[in-house]
Amino acid sequence: MVLERGRIGETWRGRWDSFCLVTPNWTVKLPGHPYAGDDPDGFMPKDEIVDHLENYASVVGAPLRTGVEVHSITRDDDRFILRTSDGELQARAVILATGAYQCAHRPQIAGAPLTDLMVLDVDGYRSPVDLPNGPVMIVGSGQSGCQLAEELNEAGREVVLSCGRAPWAPRRIDGRDIVWWATEDGFLDQSLNDLPSPEARLFANIVTTGHGGGHDLHLRTLRAMGVELAGHLIGLEGHRARFADDLLDSVAWGDERYRMLTKELPALAARLGLPAPQIPDPEPFGDPGIEEVDLSGFGAIIFTSGFRPDYGDLVPWPEALDQRGFPSQEDGASLVVPGLYFVGVHFLRTRKSSLLTGVGDDAAIVAAAISSQVGR
Ligand SMILES: Cc1cc2nc3c(=O)[nH]c(=O)nc-3n(C[C@H](O)[C@H](O)[C@H](O)COP(=O)(O)OP(=O)(O)OC[C@H]3O[C@@H](n4cnc5c(N)ncnc54)[C@H](O)[C@@H]3O)c2cc1C
Repeated sequence: MVLERGRIGETWRGRWDSFCLVTPNWTVKLPGHPYAGDDPDGFMPKDEIVDHLENYASVVGAPLRTGVEVHSITRDDDRFILRTSDGELQARAVILATGAYQCAHRPQIAGAPLTDLMVLDVDGYRSPVDLPNGPVMIVGSGQSGCQLAEELNEAGREVVLSCGRAPWAPRRIDGRDIVWWATEDGFLDQSLNDLPSPEARLFANIVTTGHGGGHDLHLRTLRAMGVELAGHLIGLEGHRARFADDLLDSVAWGDERYRMLTKELPALAARLGLPAPQIPDPEPFGDPGIEEVDLSGFGAIIFTSGFRPDYGDLVPWPEALDQRGFPSQEDGASLVVPGLYFVGVHFLRTRKSSLLTGVGDDAAIVAAAISSQVGR
């Protein structure tokens, strides 16, 4: 039984109005139901993603109960007890598929948001017209922050973007999408063990965009559009926002990831019998960014500073989660609570575990484990 508190594709429905995929349509490979439209190199807007999921549920005959929220899960002998908005249920195995991006994260800063200014997280943003008039400060320069900065700039808003560290890459290299290269060279198959540190799991995804058919989007393109860049937000005092003097460090960090990401591509191209790809070095970047800004007259502050896991009462066993709130698991099976499984978690098994291109592999492994645990 699949319990969903909202409707099919609820998370996608709740994203901003112009949201579209960052990964190309051909990467959508739900088991037995890959993307079959006429624009494999395009990027579905959210309504099409929801349609795709609704079709998928119908094609596989998913035993869905929508509008049912699970409030808490406990264990009683060899059974789980699920308390839901529609009564109590029992199950011998539970899979938590409550999303990779559960809880919007705000950085710790000195001071408090101003009371006369709209302050929202990315999941509360819908479109430029819904924001009060005036310039907008965006805090966080990953995929969401950069896409919102571009959208608001194009809508005629002044935008200040407080930047952190995020990898970036051109949308296409030698006519092939960056996600194609990342798939072919195994980048998306990297596991936690391939990362330099456990914290690296929380690094931003590669910044680019699928809007308008897909194009380059990073700090240099935003600066060229007129977006005002700054370092990390460190304080809010009255109407003044203060930023760290670290914009150049963050740009250099992103440039280093770009070089790491692309350095194996010539060898990959040679193995695949393709011409050596043209990979330009990042253009010089000498703007140290603004150190502070007067927020008088601003319309809003939008935090786009990442997400953290939050299982709340669905996982009441503290040792079942690590110190960052990610499940302690192997191949999706809890290492602590027998019968408890996870899918759709960032780096559950690999970097693509929370992407439409990778979740199917993990789901098959979890399904097989449950079949052998409880029988079919
Ligand atoms: C800005 C952004 C851009 C992204 N772009 C891409 C992209 O281009 N390509 C890609 O492949 N992925 C992308 N992703 C990742 C992708 O959105 C998610 O990883 C994916 O939706 C995970 O699917 P899921 O079904 O595991 O989780 P979700 O889609 O989050 O679904 C979880 C569901 O669980 C329900 N739920 C939660 N708690 C409960 C409860 N207690 N009881 C009942 N139901 C509950 C929610 O309502 C929701 O419908 C992006 C993510 C973000 C944040």
